[in-house]
Amino acid sequence: MRYRLSGPWLLGLRAFRRLAGGRAPAFRILFFHDVPKDRFAAFRNLVGYVKRYHGVVSPEEAGTWLLGAAPARSTIGLGRYPCLFAFDDGFASNYDLAKQCLAEHGVKALFFVCPGLIELPAGDQRAGIAAHIFDGRLAADSLPEGLRLMSWTELEELGSLGHCIGCHGMSHRRLSLLEGDGLRREIVDAGDLLERRLGGPVSWFAFAFGGIDSISRPALRVISEKYRFCRSGLRGANAAGTEPMAVLADHIDLLAPTAYRKLVLEGGLDIRYRRARRRLNAMVG
Ligand SMILES: [Zn+2]
Repeated sequence: MRYRLSGPWLLGLRAFRRLAGGRAPAFRILFFHDVPKDRFAAFRNLVGYVKRYHGVVSPEEAGTWLLGAAPARSTIGLGRYPCLFAFDDGFASNYDLAKQCLAEHGVKALFFVCPGLIELPAGDQRAGIAAHIFDGRLAADSLPEGLRLMSWTELEELGSLGHCIGCHGMSHRRLSLLEGDGLRREIVDAGDLLERRLGGPVSWFAFAFGGIDSISRPALRVISEKYRFCRSGLRGANAAGTEPMAVLADHIDLLAPTAYRKLVLEGGLDIRYRRARRRLNAMVG
């Protein structure tokens, strides 16, 4: 249903924006998870499209904007904001994708990883992925063959290529269910471990699951002690007034029809997240 309506919806949205006139500069974060090899072609096309019609933002530029500097570039068209590419969970497919598709286009991205899961012995990692990343919805033996997380060496290499590594929690726990030491371990100890392993500061955090019910006021307070930016999974564009602890991002489904993906890129689904965004801003404020 939502896919069938996306074409007319997109046309309506564009017409409305032409009438409404120019909008303030902003950027969007597009995020992905594991991207199997058979979706690399779709991903390549998307990067090409975004580069051409929206523009691409690096993690560094996004950080500067969020800290108050005016965007260096104006937006390409009405409602078409430049985008930052991000990847959650640290799957090994992200490494191959960076070396192939991102390198081809000269795109620098943001990778959110869980250091506690990377540290698991190889034999326990699939069980860890099933229990924590898939929240027990999948059994370890039903995960795709060969599914694994990036190693420390691969992450170091991504860092040396100019990509940015962020923290996604020690072991992908739902922060709204934790308090006290459990919360600090998942947020602060995780960042300390990442910094020790990668030898540099980690300034981005993205909370696991990304939804408004997966985060809490105490969790955001702890995140703000350790990190400069906290990314949610709530849809929306990030503009001048965006709070660095309440950064918005759009999940992109590479299997969705083109019109639906364009609709997401142009903010057609933002309205559905208005209440969640308000709740997140209230937690931060
Ligand atoms: Zn995740």
